[in-house]
Amino acid sequence: MANIFGIRRSDPSEELVSISDRGADALLDILVLAASALAETDSQRRLAVWLAEHDRNYGVGTVGFYLSDMPWDSDSFEEDRQFMVRVTDAASQKTGWEVLDYRPNADHLMPMLGWFRKGFVRLKTADINHGILSDWLSDMDDDDPVFHGFPRCKKHGVYLAWHGCRICNTK
Ligand SMILES: [Zn+2]
Repeated sequence: MANIFGIRRSDPSEELVSISDRGADALLDILVLAASALAETDSQRRLAVWLAEHDRNYGVGTVGFYLSDMPWDSDSFEEDRQFMVRVTDAASQKTGWEVLDYRPNADHLMPMLGWFRKGFVRLKTADINHGILSDWLSDMDDDDPVFHGFPRCKKHGVYLAWHGCRICNTK
């Protein structure tokens, strides 16, 4: 199954991109590694956790999404959007890749990271759904890591999601 990504739901289908299942697993791993390394605020940590939740082993089996559907905080959207641009740059520089027990296919992933970078550059505050953060938080159980100081995996350094560490889980 393909994992399809877009910037906004209103975008024409030719602007969507897709990646294989294995490619999507690696793409999300490296984005989560970079986001976990760079996050400085809770809104940025939430974006890292949200990405970590996109795990093919849990849920519907595919992990595509629209950048506009990330749990953006309206109060810090601009800083957080720039944070995500830096995250794609850090992922392109292979930030954290040394903790993985496989070697991500850089040739396959770099064009996707380039697409994400452009997407985050283009995303505007008018594109985001302003209720999306509170909807995401209200769906969570009380024991979700997001409400408990954003613990990280001791082995991989990434923020934990409700299902634990996405990198440990794929062993
Ligand atoms: Zn781990």
